Amino acid sequence: MGNVDYSKYSKLSPFELKDKLIELAQSRTDRMMLNAGRGNPNFLATVPRRAFFQLGLFSATESEFSFSYMPEGLGGFPRSEGLQSRFDHFILENRDKPGVVFLGKAISYVRDQLGLDPDAFLLEMVEGVLGCNYPVPDRMLRVSETIIKEYVLREMGVQGMAKESLDLFAVEGGTAAMAYIFNSLKENKIIEKGDRIAIGTPIFTPYLEIPKLNDYQLEEVLIQADANLGWQYPESELRKLEDPSIKAFFLVNPSNPPSVKMSDEGLEILADIVKKRPDLIILTDDVYGTFADNFKSLFAICPDNTILVYSFSKYFGATGWRLGVIALSNNNILDHKIAALSKKDKKELEERYSSLTTEPANIKFIDRLVADSRNVALNHTAGLSTPQQVQMVLFALFNMMDSRQNYKEAVKSVVRDRDATLYRQLGVDVPQDPNAVDYYTLINLENTSRILYGDEFADWVIKNKNPTELLFRVADETGVVLLPGSGFGVSHPSARASLANLNEYQYAAIGNSLRKFAEETYREYQQVTKKK
Ligand SMILES: *Cc1c(COP(=O)(O)O)cnc(C)c1O
Repeated sequence: MGNVDYSKYSKLSPFELKDKLIELAQSRTDRMMLNAGRGNPNFLATVPRRAFFQLGLFSATESEFSFSYMPEGLGGFPRSEGLQSRFDHFILENRDKPGVVFLGKAISYVRDQLGLDPDAFLLEMVEGVLGCNYPVPDRMLRVSETIIKEYVLREMGVQGMAKESLDLFAVEGGTAAMAYIFNSLKENKIIEKGDRIAIGTPIFTPYLEIPKLNDYQLEEVLIQADANLGWQYPESELRKLEDPSIKAFFLVNPSNPPSVKMSDEGLEILADIVKKRPDLIILTDDVYGTFADNFKSLFAICPDNTILVYSFSKYFGATGWRLGVIALSNNNILDHKIAALSKKDKKELEERYSSLTTEPANIKFIDRLVADSRNVALNHTAGLSTPQQVQMVLFALFNMMDSRQNYKEAVKSVVRDRDATLYRQLGVDVPQDPNAVDYYTLINLENTSRILYGDEFADWVIKNKNPTELLFRVADETGVVLLPGSGFGVSHPSARASLANLNEYQYAAIGNSLRKFAEETYREYQQVTKKK
């Protein structure tokens, strides 16, 4: 301890840095590593999973009974005749098993509350869970799409938009969505090498890197949220988007890591900007929207300009399931941009998609996304696996059927209580903000030093302490892994802690460690300043 040289770590990439921090934190056997660097939640929705497994058991039996001659282990396609009554019977027989009643009620909910055909729904679920057919339609199963549309419209705060006015593409999580979208924007010549795109920062690290990749070579314009404004984007930053050379605005809302949703004022400014810039593409990753109070997506404000990405990973504790959707309005500007391409470009694209239809010029952007996701030629096997779509539907129904929003309130208070505990132990008031989501927290080094030991100390810390080195010392000496805010494009020295993946007492321990660390640094400061 003491004389370790941590400065050599400053040049590591964010992911190398994370690995190095973990290595240091794990280096001692006499204590536990507390890795608050991970966004993976340590909670998960169980009822919709139970429902999935029960549905699977029912469906396997249906398959086995569909063959009159049935050797062990061989079944046929489920039959629609009498399916509903056999299902009702199954629910009744097994109603004491957790998840079964929910499954039964899901059918009634889809019929009575959503007004959908219960027979079509049940057959889609039974065939889907068995995974005995390619996903058809490839973009998303029919009834499933309608249900997820309802979920997306509600959770993203979209009012007055008919389900018919949007299309969904079910994908393998939010990250697949981003990869597909960037690729199709490029393939369809909507975004080209050298174009300028704006990125709302701080942001999830990989998103800072995609645009710079060799494939894209985009010029990044940062739209920087301000810590002093509760991490909202100042109007002057947002107004940069009025510059017509900026093709797209790419953001995570609620943000990661500040974890605040865009304020109503911010949304209004954007609505105004889009009036002046009807050609501006907005790409919003709203994976944390379901943790916010009264969330409103930019998709609700500027639906025709916005590509919405939503993932089930965080809210349902389902990162391993790989579940996400891309939503687009039927009247989106991407289709208009494709229609307005030069003759030469259009011809090239018609060739690209000519294997799909006789009128490739009319393929919508969302269907191009589907085709591009399998390099066009393999389009006939595109789409998210059907069991994944079934689990997605059960997650969404679980949330929608919960009229008291018990699950939502529970997951929100899990992360918020952890936040309160961490700051309490650190000895700092918990930041209060109606836009806060608290899935992550950014611990500001300067402010914290100021609150704990005053201005002079804070100034000394900022001048004399390298924030990255501090995180390495914290990891080495206490076993606590926090990531540097700088990796996410935060300009103030800060540490990001995920509030999702440890237990409350561990957040208390993190608060304590940081507090102890501050005390030691303060002693060092006293010694150094005394000598002078
Ligand atoms: C965790 C996270 C996701 C989720 O990605 P998946 O691929 O759906 O697991 C998406 N966007 C952001 C900003 C995230 O932090």
